[in-house]
Amino acid sequence: MEKIVALCKRRGFIFQSSEIYGGLASTYDYGHYGVLLKNNVKSAWWRTVIQERDDMVALDAAILMHPKVWEASGHLAGFTDPLVQCLGKCKRRWRADHLEPDENGQLRCPECGGELGEAREFNLMFETFMGPVRDDASRIFLRPETAQGIFVNFKNVLQFARKKPPFGIAQIGKAFRNEITPGNFIFRTREFEQMEIEFFVPPADAPQWHQRWMEDRLRWYTDLGIRSDHLHLREHGPDELSHYSAATSDIEYLFPMGWSELEGIANRTDFDLKAHSKASGEDLSYFDPQTEQRYVPYVIEPSAGADRATLAFMVDAYDEEEVAGRKRTVLKLHPRLAPVKVAVLPLVSRDGMPEKARALYKELRELMPAEFDEGGSIGKRYRRQDEIGTPWGVTIDGQTMEDDTVTLRDRDSLDQIRVSISEIGDELLKRLVGDWRSPKLG
Ligand code: ATP
Repeated sequence: MEKIVALCKRRGFIFQSSEIYGGLASTYDYGHYGVLLKNNVKSAWWRTVIQERDDMVALDAAILMHPKVWEASGHLAGFTDPLVQCLGKCKRRWRADHLEPDENGQLRCPECGGELGEAREFNLMFETFMGPVRDDASRIFLRPETAQGIFVNFKNVLQFARKKPPFGIAQIGKAFRNEITPGNFIFRTREFEQMEIEFFVPPADAPQWHQRWMEDRLRWYTDLGIRSDHLHLREHGPDELSHYSAATSDIEYLFPMGWSELEGIANRTDFDLKAHSKASGEDLSYFDPQTEQRYVPYVIEPSAGADRATLAFMVDAYDEEEVAGRKRTVLKLHPRLAPVKVAVLPLVSRDGMPEKARALYKELRELMPAEFDEGGSIGKRYRRQDEIGTPWGVTIDGQTMEDDTVTLRDRDSLDQIRVSISEIGDELLKRLVGDWRSPKLG
């Protein structure tokens, strides 16, 4: 993990938030390449769950919601983690369900070995106040999940999107949780982005859809390059299930700190729609004109974290290799996720090469994210592009000035071929689109 954190800082992917003030714990800012990478993760998700399906629609609900939403959903009473405090030297606070008992079966402070106090339930929702008066009536919450924005819009979508179950609503947005022990870089933070789907189905079909979504979601990660032996599904035990869930499985990834949740896929039953019907007085059932039956749909929820997924893609792509006696660090990101697709590099800064390279760069950047770099030795520039995961490099050299061909270098195989300058755009597009399609065809 330290290597990933160092690379992220060195290459401007991710910085500590408010760093000049000493940093705000477990809060991060995304720099240029980080923004591009996370955007690509999110657009790959949109592409798979919306563009390539006809049973899904998109939504972007507000972060601030009516406080009654959180009462009805059960978050006000039950969205808690068990908090224990060290009574010994360090006084640190821990999440009791994340601690391992010692050989006597007792929980001790992992920092100083001290005794721990009684566990108390700690609500993870951030509170704030709306308007100028700070009283109970104006108390609102930053949403701890995007899902509730979908449930309260179920009726709107049903009316206007011309959909009927089975269909789903997808949303990407920020969520906030006052986590007791955040950590492991962007794995667990107090402010993060979720990519959530609520998929509404006839109750009898829920187990089948749950199974299908687990397979679809697992495949999404492997299609985008994560090694399948670094992923598995883990089913929640009965004591672990959330208050709304009939069954949940997590997609876990082998992070540097061990197997940890990447995405949760839950069968939320009709819990949420029924709870909001009851609390709001709005009927959130569906009448099926074909069977002439009215029912409250069950919900299958694949819920992923955009930041966690970004971290997993980076960890899995990270590689250190020895090439011709020199160490190279490379992010072997799937081309669809790579922040920059092609780097255009003049071999040297003279003899008309920079001008020619810049003209080509201007053409290529209309087709795909491209970068022009003329500073430093060619080896250094390749290494920089390898570290940010750029799949292709195009070099303008002496021969280009004679016959209008360029060198095309592949990040992973390191193969170099010569391509005519007039064909390089088509060649790159072919590779990019080919790479987009190949997982599906394979
Ligand atoms: P955990 O057990 O790790 O606290 P959870 O089971 O509470 O997670 P869910 O409520 O299922 O998490 O949230 C769905 C997804 O949102 C998670 O799989 C994860 O990718 C992401 N996520 C949840 N909490 C955080 C967080 N604090 N920081 C970053 N991502 C998060």
